[in-house]
Amino acid sequence: MIGIRPLNRRKPQAQAPERSRHLYLPPAYHKTEAMHRTILGIEGTAWNLSAGIVTEEDVLAEATATYQPETGGIHPREAAQHHAANIASVIRKAIGSAGDAQIDGIAFSQGPGMGPCLRTVATAARALALSLDVPLVGVNHCIAHLEVGRWQCGIDDPVMLYVSGANSQVLAYRGGRYRIFGETLDIGIGNAFDKFARHAGFSHPGGPKIESEAFAAKEYIPLPYVVKGMDFSFSGLTTAAKEALKNHPLADVCFSLQETAFAMLVEVTERAVAHTGKNDVLLAGGVGANMRLRGMLEIMCEERGARFHVPEKRFMGDNGVMIAYTGLLMLESGESLQIEDSMVIPNFRPDHVDVTWR
Ligand code: AMP
Ligand code: MG
Repeated sequence: MIGIRPLNRRKPQAQAPERSRHLYLPPAYHKTEAMHRTILGIEGTAWNLSAGIVTEEDVLAEATATYQPETGGIHPREAAQHHAANIASVIRKAIGSAGDAQIDGIAFSQGPGMGPCLRTVATAARALALSLDVPLVGVNHCIAHLEVGRWQCGIDDPVMLYVSGANSQVLAYRGGRYRIFGETLDIGIGNAFDKFARHAGFSHPGGPKIESEAFAAKEYIPLPYVVKGMDFSFSGLTTAAKEALKNHPLADVCFSLQETAFAMLVEVTERAVAHTGKNDVLLAGGVGANMRLRGMLEIMCEERGARFHVPEKRFMGDNGVMIAYTGLLMLESGESLQIEDSMVIPNFRPDHVDVTWR
């Protein structure tokens, strides 16, 4: 069972520092050789509610409850209601399978994500941190994808292609921050696939159905390829793919949609690799499950002499482990939040975070 620290062991400083994201931490929080912190992280920015418990070396536990819309796409309020109904059992399950671990901190996804979902998770995280009397850490969801990938794949400094329902970004570290080298100008690629798939009569999520349809394709149909500088756009492409369904077989349109969208992503990723001179490419996000996207990235990496990394599936999509692990890194570098500063940030950009842990 979970142990709760004696209350006097983690007392905040008598003299409160000025309010800031970078809360002063008592010396006990700063890293020592002998210290093995255990952090519980909660993820719930969209449809996946997940709690993970990690130490620096290990994943001790993870538990998940996934919201599945009955019809249509993800409804933010319904997803938040799902998270509220399941959060206690998900946390209890994670804690129950972590053995006798003592929790030293609570990390939560502070954004980006759907406001109602973020608020549900943040409320639970605050309540847990207060009741266990441990620090609270607000984690940027996109950075968490990158950090768990670095950890699990054992890589130091990758260019990351992060492709999920709502997000599509090419990120890399430079000068104390994770910079966005390229990003979508409108919708995320996963949302683009899901919209097209709904139009074609598939249920949510549409990405895997598009992938399996595409195997039966016989012909490539030209669709709008939109890369502007280092950014890309999927909205016009989605509309054109829906239109193409009027005159072409579904399999050909699915195939052409994938080929066009993935080529755009790979082009920008390749340019980021060329500009930064980095030697590793990391794939993250739910769309990263797609074998054609992986194949295209693999070819690009091979041609450039870069290494291509894909974490285990459970660390690719949204998961509590990535939040816990990034929370651990942040806490060890002295970062935590006061409750009154822990409001959620639905449009939280990764390049707004000072990376103090590298
Ligand atoms: P995430 O937001 O990271 O949880 O990812 C969810 C998105 O990934 C949804 O838009 C899915 O349609 C998409 N997705 C999942 N599997 C695949 C796949 N095999 N190919 C393309 N997209 C996928
Ligand atoms: Mg994600």
